[in-house]
Amino acid sequence: MFTVNAIAAPSATDPLVRTTVERRDPGPRDVLIEISYAGICHSDIHTVRGEWGEVPYPLTVGHEIVGHVTKVGAEVTRHRVGDRVGVGCMVNSCRECANCRAGQEQYCLNGNVGTYASTDRDGTVTQGGYSTHIVVDEDFVLRVPEAIPHEAAAPLLCAGITTYSPLAHWKAGPGRKVAVVGMGGLGHMAVKIAVAMGAEVTVLSQTLGKKDDGLRFGAEHYHATSDPATFEALADTFDLIVNTVSAPIDVNAYLRLLRLDGTMVNVGAPPEPLPVKVFTLFSNRRSFAGSSIGGIAETQEMLDFCAEHGIAPEIELIDADRVNEAYERVLTSDVRYRFVIDVDSLR
Ligand SMILES: [Zn+2]
Ligand SMILES: [Zn+2]
Repeated sequence: MFTVNAIAAPSATDPLVRTTVERRDPGPRDVLIEISYAGICHSDIHTVRGEWGEVPYPLTVGHEIVGHVTKVGAEVTRHRVGDRVGVGCMVNSCRECANCRAGQEQYCLNGNVGTYASTDRDGTVTQGGYSTHIVVDEDFVLRVPEAIPHEAAAPLLCAGITTYSPLAHWKAGPGRKVAVVGMGGLGHMAVKIAVAMGAEVTVLSQTLGKKDDGLRFGAEHYHATSDPATFEALADTFDLIVNTVSAPIDVNAYLRLLRLDGTMVNVGAPPEPLPVKVFTLFSNRRSFAGSSIGGIAETQEMLDFCAEHGIAPEIELIDADRVNEAYERVLTSDVRYRFVIDVDSLR
């Protein structure tokens, strides 16, 4: 084991503090990564505050990680020292179940190993990316193309794949009308990716406050959901609605915006159940679905897609000492559109 600098939450209510975490010595199939940047995801905040269940404190979160390989185990073939790499929301899975064999490790039937707050195969609790180094099995390490600005690449590892996967699965593309609900960290990536896939994109946001940004990211239409006329005007319109909002919404009002065989997919995660009227699903043979991150192969495909299409998240770079302030700003949606920690400030 060795010790590295990190920021951790001591409890659900204390601010995050500078500390150290232990990393395992790299095994034969492990990659040691010197972390350059770590994105701040809303899930990090839910987790450290204990809103999604029991948490093993002290905990270092962070699952939007980019850096460089500084050491590889003897059996590693996919990565070399010096490579620019990334790690997302999971660092292992069983590799044997039907879903793992199908390349859908995020849906591992035995539970994937999360990048933080999970129990790793060696029995230790995983610690995330708000840290100077991490050791990860090579199969869960992604290649980050040089074409993506290094500091902006981090949020692709969660926000990017979380939106890319459903857009790809439900075939956003030319001739398809896609609505993105919410214009935050996930929403702004969904807009950019859906536009690059060739879809006609509409943003449905609470207000028109970010309309200029939405249109700049390539959306063709932008509507305020606080205006009831929006729901009249857009009835029976969309092939796909990607809901990125993690607060409860009136699902049935949004479902009525789907045209024949349309699907509304949730990537935001409100803790409360959302009541669905089955009669709303009968009309237009609508579907109501969910989607969680993406498999490793698909995450690589997303990174390569973003490099090819010149897509990167909009970020605000901060030093480690500003993480607590950044959390408060995420909670009031006062960020355009993702905070990224400059991990050099932790060395
Ligand atoms: Zn995340
Ligand atoms: Zn599995």
